[in-house]
Amino acid sequence: MKSWIERANVATCDFPIQNLPYGVFSRDGEAPRCGVAIGDRILDLAALQAAGLLDTGGAVFAQSALNDFMALGSVAWDRVRSRLVELLAAGGDAALREGQGLRAGALGPLAGSRLHLPFEVTGYTDFYAGRQHAVNVGTMFRGAENALPPNWLHMPIGYNGRASTVVVSGTDIHRPLGQMKPPSAEVPFFGPCRRLDIELEMGAVVGLPNRMGTPVTVAEADDMIFGYVLLNDWSARDIQGWEYQPLGPFQGKVFGTSISPWVVTKAALEPFRTTTPDREKELLPYLHEPRPLLYDIELEVHMQPAGAATSSRIAQSNFRYMYYSSAQQLAHHAIGGCRMNTGDLLGSGTISGPEKSQYGSLLELSWGGKEPFTLETGETRSFLEDGDRVTLTGWAQGDGYRVGFGDCSGTILPAPAEKNWTAETAD
Ligand code: CA
Repeated sequence: MKSWIERANVATCDFPIQNLPYGVFSRDGEAPRCGVAIGDRILDLAALQAAGLLDTGGAVFAQSALNDFMALGSVAWDRVRSRLVELLAAGGDAALREGQGLRAGALGPLAGSRLHLPFEVTGYTDFYAGRQHAVNVGTMFRGAENALPPNWLHMPIGYNGRASTVVVSGTDIHRPLGQMKPPSAEVPFFGPCRRLDIELEMGAVVGLPNRMGTPVTVAEADDMIFGYVLLNDWSARDIQGWEYQPLGPFQGKVFGTSISPWVVTKAALEPFRTTTPDREKELLPYLHEPRPLLYDIELEVHMQPAGAATSSRIAQSNFRYMYYSSAQQLAHHAIGGCRMNTGDLLGSGTISGPEKSQYGSLLELSWGGKEPFTLETGETRSFLEDGDRVTLTGWAQGDGYRVGFGDCSGTILPAPAEKNWTAETAD
């Protein structure tokens, strides 16, 4: 299928008519509103709705977040997607294509638009559900014999993160301050993180809630998911290493999580569904998958130090390497009665493939800092330095088109200035 927006038909364009991802944008100080990326344009859904071309029952798109639209549910999601395809397909409904005033007003350029956090993140949970990552990290810290914790093959391990610091691509990240104690130190010390890392992940966006006290099946969990984003779960390994027992990550993970600005819908990803790997241990029935619920999505990590002329690709992986699907993670999350809300974000866990070039964190790429790697521009790295810019990209490859996610990037700023921590508060 082709669009009358020519750029959308280029094989390497992230946003063909098969994609139609949702985001929130603004231009020239206008109020943020919802839009869809198509080719090199953003289709203004609030303008389309105001012109009477989109019937959703309520002004859900003239808002600075997708939550109200997501909460309408899958019938509305499908109806809007079908209508957008009619309006954007070559030879389709001419109301937008030939509505000269509307076409100029509702189809602005993507370049130069400001992209905002696409939905209000009501909760953020991060999982640890990629097997190669868990094996790598476990081998480094506990040895190859005990790499996987005893529960790992039976459930997707997760912890409740912070929604307040989930930010959209392009937001700078301050190196965190914190308390650390490497094995060589006698006592803990305080200062800027020295082992600052990334985690290559996908984020599942919950569109529909469940009721508190009401578990959901894996199939119902899949129905609750609206779509997916790229996610970089920035991590302070030295802070995490000292704090994580017995309650899991805390300060090492709360200072920033970046997501891509476009939510790629489950409908757009449907042709790319694939199965999770063979189960080494039979899962309990509440985690059984009724059909393939994982996706074949190519992923890349690029790094550009401050002043470097170009960006270097440092890893390539694929979402299909996950051991547990996002639907399994969501079902596990709700099984004890937890209410999941519209706008909940589930981080998949770091997505590492079997080869060293497919590792999704610097911790793994530099094997705990023991084997620094070299960028195409000659710099070496074990962990992030100030000024480093990291960009995640991802796409599902179709026949002559790709369903892309756009960039998920962030630049590391120096740690905040230290204070006189013991000074009395002035009144
Ligand atoms: Ca993570």
